[in-house]
This record gives sequence, C-alpha cells and structure tokens, in this order.
Amino acid sequence: MSSRRSNRTLFTYLIAVCAVGFPALAATVALDAGRLLDNLAAFLFLLPCIAFAEFVPIRIPRGDYDEELTVSTTFAFAMLLIAGPGAALVGMAVASLVSDVGRRRPRLRASFNVAQYSLSILAAFAVLHAFGVTPRNAAVSVSELGPLALAALTFFALNNSLPGIALALDRGLRGTRIARVLAEDVAFQAGMALALISMAPLVVAAAHDSLILVLLLGAPLLAIYRSAAALARASHEALHDPLTGLANRTRLHLTLASLFDEHALAGTSFALLLVDLDRFKEVNDALGHAVGDELLQLVALRLRACVGDEDLVVRLGGDEFAVVLASVESTTASDRTVALLSGLEAPMELETVTLDVTASIGVAIAPAHGTDAPALLGAADAALYLAKEARAGFVVHDAQGPADTRGRLLLLADLHEAYTAKQFVVHYQPKADARTRKIVGVEALVRWQHPRLGLLAPNEFIGMLEQSGLIRQVTLDVIDESLKQLAEWHRAGWKLHVAVNTTVRSLHDRAFPEAVASRLAAHKVPASSLELEVTERTLMADPKLVSDVLQELKTIGIRLGLDDFGTGFSSLAHLGRLPLDELKIDQSFVLGLISSDTNKVIVRSTIELAKSLGMTSVAEGVEDEVTWRQLRALGCNVVQGYLISRPKPADEITALLRHLGPEPVIPLGGVPIGPDANPTGPLTTPAIQRG
Ligand code: C2E
Ligand code: MG
Ligand code: MG
Repeated sequence: MSSRRSNRTLFTYLIAVCAVGFPALAATVALDAGRLLDNLAAFLFLLPCIAFAEFVPIRIPRGDYDEELTVSTTFAFAMLLIAGPGAALVGMAVASLVSDVGRRRPRLRASFNVAQYSLSILAAFAVLHAFGVTPRNAAVSVSELGPLALAALTFFALNNSLPGIALALDRGLRGTRIARVLAEDVAFQAGMALALISMAPLVVAAAHDSLILVLLLGAPLLAIYRSAAALARASHEALHDPLTGLANRTRLHLTLASLFDEHALAGTSFALLLVDLDRFKEVNDALGHAVGDELLQLVALRLRACVGDEDLVVRLGGDEFAVVLASVESTTASDRTVALLSGLEAPMELETVTLDVTASIGVAIAPAHGTDAPALLGAADAALYLAKEARAGFVVHDAQGPADTRGRLLLLADLHEAYTAKQFVVHYQPKADARTRKIVGVEALVRWQHPRLGLLAPNEFIGMLEQSGLIRQVTLDVIDESLKQLAEWHRAGWKLHVAVNTTVRSLHDRAFPEAVASRLAAHKVPASSLELEVTERTLMADPKLVSDVLQELKTIGIRLGLDDFGTGFSSLAHLGRLPLDELKIDQSFVLGLISSDTNKVIVRSTIELAKSLGMTSVAEGVEDEVTWRQLRALGCNVVQGYLISRPKPADEITALLRHLGPEPVIPLGGVPIGPDANPTGPLTTPAIQRG
C-alpha cells in the first residue's frame, strides 16, 4: 500500500515538474528566438555535441540501478553563453529527447527530463543575468568567472535534486531518507559538475576563433570522461562485493551509522539480520568453487528480492550475509525474517545442479539490542549462534535473557586459548554386556575444564568447536588420549574397547583415517579396540564423501557405531549401505522405556533392526535395574548409563575396575564401593553408593 501511495506521489511530482518546465521552455524560446537565429551556426555546431554526449553517459553503479552523468553539460553551458537561454534550452531538449526515445524510455520520464533540464538551465541563466553576464560571441572575462561558478552550482543543485527526488519517490522513500539519497556521493558529483562546466568558457573562447577549434577540446573532455568513469567504478568497488554486487562490510558500517542517527532523532527502530547459509562449505568442497560462487550469487538475488528498496543487503564474506531492515517494529521483525527464510527455501537451480539451501539468521533490533554498530553486530551474532546451535532457523536477540548468551560469547573468545592450554579433558563412561554384566568398554566423552566456569559439558561447547573448525584437532586429541589410556588398561589386563564420538568435519576429511591409523600404531592398540561413533546428521551432510571415509576406517579395522539412533532424519537405507557395527539407541527412548509404551515399541524395533542387520545394539541412559532387565529381555546387547557409572576421569574408572577385579562384573543394583576401592581419591558421583 505504501508503494502504491508513493507511486501516486511520484506521478504527481513528475507532472508538476513538467507543468512548470514546459511553459518556461516555450516562453523562453519565444522570447529568445531572435538570438538563436543570430547564432544559428554555433547552435547547429553545438547541438550534435550535446546530443552525442547525452548518448554516452558515465554510468555510476549504485547497487541495483545505475546513475548517469553526462558531459553534455559543458556544451549546453557553452551554448547558453554564446547563443542565449533559448538556444541552450532547445539544444538540451532535442538532445535529451533523442537520447531518451533512442533508449525507449517512457514518455513521462522523457518529458520530465526535458522539463528538468529546462528549469536547471533557466535557473543558471537567471544567476548570470543577475550579475550582468550576457550571452555574446566573445571570450569570458576574469570578473565573470565568479558569477559563472555560482551559475554552475545552481545548475548542479537543480539538475541533481529534481531527478534525485523522482528516484527517491520511485523507491518509496520519504522525508529524511530522500535527503540521504540526494546527499549520497554529493561531493563527487558537485566536483564533476564544476569540472565540466568550467570547460564551457574554453569552448566559448575556442568558438570565438573558429568552431573547428572546439573539436580539439574533445580530447580533454574525453580525459575527464574517462577518469570520472574510473573514479565512479573505484568508489563503487570500495563499497561493494565483486562477486554478488551487494554492499560490503564498509558500506554496512556507513549505513548503520547513519541509521542510528536517523532513528535516534525519530525514536523509531531498525533491524540487523546476520544470515549464515547452512552447509555451504560442503557445497564448495563437494561441487567446487564455481558452483559455490553461483550459489552465492543466487542467494544474493533472492535476499534482495525479499527486502524493500530502502533496505540494505550485504555480503560480509564467505557464506555470511547481513540484511538491514531500515524500519521495523519489534513485532514485525520476526515476520520479515520468516519471509526471508522462505525466500531462500525454494530449490536453487544452478547451471549444473539444483540445491536445497537452508540458512540460519540472528536478528537484533536497534536501539533495543544495541545503540552502536559493534553492540548491534554482537547481539545479532549471539542470536545467530543460538539459531545455528538450536537449528532454529532464526533467533531474535533476547535483551532480557542475555546471561546465557554473554556466557557463550565469552566461551567463544576463550576457545583457542583453551586448546593451547590443554583445557579439554577426556572422561570415560563404562559400557557393560547386557547379559553377563561385564564391563566391555568405555565411551570417551570430552569436557572443558574452564578456569572460571568449572567443568563444562560437551553440549555447551561442541557446537562452537565445530563452528571454529577446532573440532577436527580436538577429535584427534580425544582419540589419541583415549588410545593412550586404553593401552594402559590393556597392560593391566582389562581388554576393553573405547568409543570416541566424531563430527561432520572429521568424516569429511579424507586424511582422517590415516591420522587415526597412525595414532593406533603409536599406542600399539589393535584397531578393533577402537570404535568411532557417528550420528545420523553426519551421514546426511555429504553421503558419498562420508561413506568413502567410513569405508576407509572400516578397512583399517576400526568399529563404527551409529549414535543417538532415532533422533535424526536419516533414511533406513543408509543402515544397509554403510559399514556400521553398532546401533546406539538414544537415551531419550531408554529413559522413558518403562513409563511409555511408544518408547518400548521403538526400543524393541531398534533392537530387532540391529539384530537383523548383524549389528550390536547398545542402549544408553540406563539409570535403574528395571530398565536394564527390560532391555536384556528385549535382546539388547550392551548397556551404558548412570546405573553403571557416570562419565569420570580415567583414574576413577581405573579405581572402579580395580574394585571389580580382573573380570569387572557390575553387581545387581549398581556398584557398591568400599572405602578401599578408590585409592586415587573419592568418587563423587551419586550413582555410586559409598558404604
Ligand atoms: P553421546 O555420545 O550420546 O553421549 C552420551 C551422553 O549421555 C553423555 O553426555 C552421557 O553423560 C549421557 N549419559 C550417559 N548415561 C546416562 C544416563 O544414565 N542418564 C542420563 N540422563 N544421561 C546419560 P555428555 O557427556 O554430556 O555428552 C553429550 C554429547 O556430547 C555426547 O552424546 C556426544 O554427542 C557429544 N560428545 C561428547 N564427547 C565428545 C567428543 O569427544 N567429540 C564429539 N564430537 N562429541 C562429543
Ligand atoms: Mg556417543
Ligand atoms: Mg548418544
């Protein structure tokens, strides 16, 4: 509705300018016809110069439209000085009409151009007239240069603002925003106008001697033309991303700064959205950078199509984009973000492939979530992090509950330091044979021993590790540490195996199997004692690549388990195709096994499925004997859970094993630990009774 209203305003404006411009043109020509006829030769000579210049404007790219600057101004001004306003007006009108008709511009726009040129030239003439500078076929004197400069500025002001207002109205802008559009690049344009108009007295001087001399001025004009075009290009490039043509980070900061000023005055809000494509790296890795680039260009187009003209779409780099919604209520920000997400939803049809793309968006609203650019960007970034983490599509920053967010931001900053300071430690959780109750292995579970926040659980930082790319190294370190520990247990007589969790990054790395093999060799641990757990999500990312890497791991002799089964979206077809040895039933089904019939059905069928595919079934989250008994009755092979032990540091697990002896069998009801059971220190977890 607002755009229809602004279109009506635009129409009225164009008509109004024409209504003033055309009568002024007609009256001037009628009054000044005599002077035109007296200087017919100069008129006929300069007319094609103006027309030609109109045809080859300098294009100044401005995002989704080009602004044009022409050197016709020089000749029009020379015409004004030699043959008077009538000649200049007719010359400019003819040149502008010829060029607009040639380019099939709408009639109203062509008429408006004639009217606005007429008004601009007449205003400049009025200034000259006021200072007693009259048209003549003689060179300009030094004392006339001042009035000439003033006339040039008057011409520039009108010639720039009349079409500028039309453009702003066309883009649905109002009030201060129109002023901003007019102010964009004003110094560059004023400089150009002055340079072009200051050539006019030279044309007049040359024409005074011989019209042919005027042609020599073509060379410096061409130079001005060329350098202006180069300057326009350079200033555009400084503010835009070359791949997508979108604005860049510098432009974002400029826009944010002016929006903060504007909205502070008006007491209104605007929004910053940080958009991050999900799984873009996989597209790049699997399909090549050319496809990646094409995808980014298409995403840029889609984003642009989803926002208004007054909004800004920015490419920050890689697959990160930002969108500035120039004016929002906090209640509409979500709707507009949903619109953006659905704009990206339709399949991306690239030249060679069609891709489904999803994105995560973090939203921050100014001034509520930040009163300057760094604060607003920080808030949007924190929201983006949560959106990625929760796979929630988008998250609007919550100013009321930033405690968590603040904590996470700190963590993010601490991450690299944590890695170098070796703050990531491995705990182990035993797994027992469901029938014999003997401990057969452990699962290695990473923790972050944070200097300020204490021991942090993996769900608080694995996501960040993944984002930062550190996860690959951390995974290898956990494997290394676990194998070292396993070697010790083997030497002490406990023939356990260890399971280590992996993520997408490792399984997309063709060098990963080799890296694992070298660690197995270093610790002299047989490959069959190591199991790697993968999740359904990992398998989905790039099935072909993951399947290759898994096959390679399998060839080495490593066991493979599918973790958290039932919580992902993978098709059952993967199960048959991939070389998996173990199926881990997610604890959410196991914890509710006794209380829910549905869970019982799910657990039973999963166990059956594993059995028919020749896989071991493992139930995690076993907290009581009733559940264990039930699982055993259903044919489950291995159990893991707090009933046996919580995840603990290696020495505490060693103490537990020692307590249970060379054949570590879990007694009914869990492990009652005697006072001498743990020589290295007390066991602190509630699952274990100390007697
Ligand atoms: P997961 O692989 O499914 O690990 C099992 C999680 O269930 C562990 O949580 C464990 O403490 C918990 N759990 C075990 N038994 C019980 C029980 O009886 N009751 C309840 N309520 N929970 C139980 P944790 O250690 O917090 O690990 C969470 C997840 O973090 C893991 O889920 C795994 O996906 C991930 N993770 C842990 N260590 C690593 C690692 O080294 N690398 C990677 N990539 N991911 C890891
Ligand atoms: Mg696991
Ligand atoms: Mg699990």
